[in-house]
Amino acid sequence: MTLSEKDNLYNWHPYTQHKNAFNHPVIVKGSGALLWDDSGKEYVDAIASWWVNPFGHSNVFIAQAIFKQLTQLEHVLFGGFTHEPAILLSEKLAQILPNNQKRFFYSDNGSSAVEVALKVALQYFYNKGEKRTKIIAFEDAFHGDTFGAMATSGISFFTEAFKGSMLEVVRIPVPTKGNEVKSANALKKLVATNDYAAFIFEPLVQGAAGMVMYSSSALDELISIAKKGNVFTIADEVMTGFGKTGKNFACDYLIEKPDMMCLSKALTGGTIPMAVTSFTQEIFDGFYDDDVNKALFHGHTFTANPTGCAAALASIELLETKEIQNNIQLVNQSHLAFEQHIKNHPKVSSTRVLGVIFALEIKVNGKQDYYGEMRNKLYSFFIEKGVILRPVGNIIYVLPPYIISKEHLKKIYQTIEEALDYI
Ligand SMILES: *Cc1c(COP(=O)(O)O)cnc(C)c1O
Repeated sequence: MTLSEKDNLYNWHPYTQHKNAFNHPVIVKGSGALLWDDSGKEYVDAIASWWVNPFGHSNVFIAQAIFKQLTQLEHVLFGGFTHEPAILLSEKLAQILPNNQKRFFYSDNGSSAVEVALKVALQYFYNKGEKRTKIIAFEDAFHGDTFGAMATSGISFFTEAFKGSMLEVVRIPVPTKGNEVKSANALKKLVATNDYAAFIFEPLVQGAAGMVMYSSSALDELISIAKKGNVFTIADEVMTGFGKTGKNFACDYLIEKPDMMCLSKALTGGTIPMAVTSFTQEIFDGFYDDDVNKALFHGHTFTANPTGCAAALASIELLETKEIQNNIQLVNQSHLAFEQHIKNHPKVSSTRVLGVIFALEIKVNGKQDYYGEMRNKLYSFFIEKGVILRPVGNIIYVLPPYIISKEHLKKIYQTIEEALDYI
């Protein structure tokens, strides 16, 4: 049997209807912004493998840090023990995150980072004897696929089957251009009830919704409304973190600061699954007590895995180099130039750019299905051409590794332009 045949026999892939899935390309090698399959076909990774990989595939600097850590101390439980990589990583995060973020809780993926934030928000009020049991989230949000994260996610067909078994979440409109007042008013109404523990949002960009963007001033307004009503704010930067928006964190564009932040995806440069949830001192203090029952009884076996921490430290070191900061600006300028070139194309209804993120909406009648016909046609076209892009309905977005070359960016843009003619 070939690898592909065995894959079809054994593996259950994410977000996949296997009955009509095509054979998944067997990827055997990655370098920089490129991947190769077992037939030798080359792909440009235009979405940084689900937004995790800023510094290129098989990055040697991170790999060396991982190897060094693996041969020094690969893992030790974090319950009752600690270690240098976790201490140094937390110290580093305290330096680069908004300066009210003081405490760091480690887990293994973005969904878990969100679960931790939600549980902390709910238990904080429980510990105080205050009844705040509901959560506020945006329409069309995506916060992950575990139960709490899923409850706060608003992409309905992802979560439809589980509607009866979820945390109580109320949604407000996203403050996209023209909807700022509507969104703020909806939040004011909810906050006034004193029923809510937290408001969770993807700051500035809703990734899974199709890179939907809104302004930092609109988010500042929402955070200040939540603060006045004693509702915690949770910035889910799982996608936006570590340079994607042109600054280290989307929250760096804000005047207000969130109470909690969720980070994962690019945290380890796309190498080791790892996540962290960060908190203000006030939140930590809500658990600090003589009463053991007020502690946070949450943990994951691989919490603060030393190898993951070492990978994250190496990643952040790369992020802070002039070269990478320069690369981010180059990708941004390149996107802006392509936007100018393509925005008046007769099939394009709108475009947007922030940092290394570019998105383009194709004109359609009504809303296109997330995994609908147009999306599937586009996806197959891109794969055929050797460009990895995963359109969302009628939205094509690009979020490449920061180190991508000019030529490969050009190939991505050209392929998108060809797709517009083909569709
Ligand atoms: C991807 C994502 C998550 C979920 O992260 P996983 O590692 O897939 O569990 C949560 N929030 C946002 C904003 C994301 O983009």
